[in-house]
Amino acid sequence: MENTIFIKTFGCQMNEYDSNRIYDSVRKIGFKRTANKENATCLVINTCHIRDKAKEKIYHEIGRIKKIYRNKSKPIMIIAGCVAQAENQEMFKREPYIDIVIGPQSYHKINNLLKNYISNKKEEETEFDTISKFKHFDNIENLNKKISAFLTIQEGCDKFCHFCVVPYTRGPEYSRPFNKILYEAETLIKNGAKEIILLGQNVNAYSYCDHSKEYRISNLINELEKYSELKRIRYTTSHPRDMTDDLIDCYASNKKLMPLIHLPIQSGSNKILKSMNRKHTVEEYMKIYERLKKINSEIEFSSDFIVSYPGETDRDFNDTLNLVKKIKFINSYSFIFSPRPGTKSSSLKTLDIEISKERLNELQKYLFNHQINKNRSFEGGFVDVLVENKIKDQPKLFGRNKYLNSVIFNGDSKDIGKMLKVKIESTNSSTLFGKIENNKEIRAA
Ligand code: SF4
Repeated sequence: MENTIFIKTFGCQMNEYDSNRIYDSVRKIGFKRTANKENATCLVINTCHIRDKAKEKIYHEIGRIKKIYRNKSKPIMIIAGCVAQAENQEMFKREPYIDIVIGPQSYHKINNLLKNYISNKKEEETEFDTISKFKHFDNIENLNKKISAFLTIQEGCDKFCHFCVVPYTRGPEYSRPFNKILYEAETLIKNGAKEIILLGQNVNAYSYCDHSKEYRISNLINELEKYSELKRIRYTTSHPRDMTDDLIDCYASNKKLMPLIHLPIQSGSNKILKSMNRKHTVEEYMKIYERLKKINSEIEFSSDFIVSYPGETDRDFNDTLNLVKKIKFINSYSFIFSPRPGTKSSSLKTLDIEISKERLNELQKYLFNHQINKNRSFEGGFVDVLVENKIKDQPKLFGRNKYLNSVIFNGDSKDIGKMLKVKIESTNSSTLFGKIENNKEIRAA
């Protein structure tokens, strides 16, 4: 019987990238990717630990899987990702259905684990072996054929914000060799990518030294700019402290670098930023904003916010609102603080939940309004859209504008991968709807 593998991915783009690379790897030992989770030899849940109740979600998912496979042979059950890293052996105790627990920096071991799999023998791999991992994957072709492709350039974090599990689940900052990244980018472009999104937990902290020359993310952006088939470059997620001059200058010189910057600030209060150990102030953030706006007034910001961090007063919260009114972020993420086990802030006293909900509602009202207003500003005009795919069973295409808005419009499959001008007729909070007047491809992003 053929071995098949199905991966359910939770969380961020880095998990999505990792899942695809796991598929690329296990293919080498004869495991075929399947879209049918009801009949797989191996099931992987690639987990995320950022949001609340992440663990519970996994055990619920396993409960559903157990029902599906009640009368079939049991699949090899693997838990991967950040929850696997954080919980390791504990997972076997709570759910004996799990066979393998593998952390994000051990994915290179998955082929051996599967090859040597023995029923009922529990295996756990949670070492921070990032160098070996990327060495393994550098020798495995990235088979992603998407128009917009993710490319991990950096992993881990050394900043230790007091609320965040990433330094514990992904380990210390590691930057992949410059030439290996370019090689993978070339493969993606050869496979049809028109947009590359550079990924890292601290993507703009990318720093790779070769023969005493330091390569930064700006060098990668400048190199990618040279590929004529590539139309757009993005990167995420950044830290304000790593918005260095060379990266800021890229916005003046690179036409393919998109003018939406996701730059988490978390709070508009310096007192709270300090207590979060964010290592930057509101003023420093504003300086970055102003410099970038001066270079290109079209640049927009999106961000992450934590509301009701322990110790946040009404005044601190108002500082956040004031910042949001000034910057008018689009597409932001906002959550009420929830403690993550093992982090410094997990022992701090949380705020009253009703007050927290009120604050979140108020913040989201502003964020949502900015987003709606921005979307409305496109109505009646043209936007440049990179076409990503056709919508199933409809004569419609899906693509994105430069601010990552979803755009849906008339068209057919032959336009996938093209950059088209789309006239926007209506919008809602997340999507622009329009039509193309001709499908002549445009050159600019
Ligand atoms: S910089 Fe980002 S990834 Fe690192 S600890 Fe802070 S929030 Fe987490």
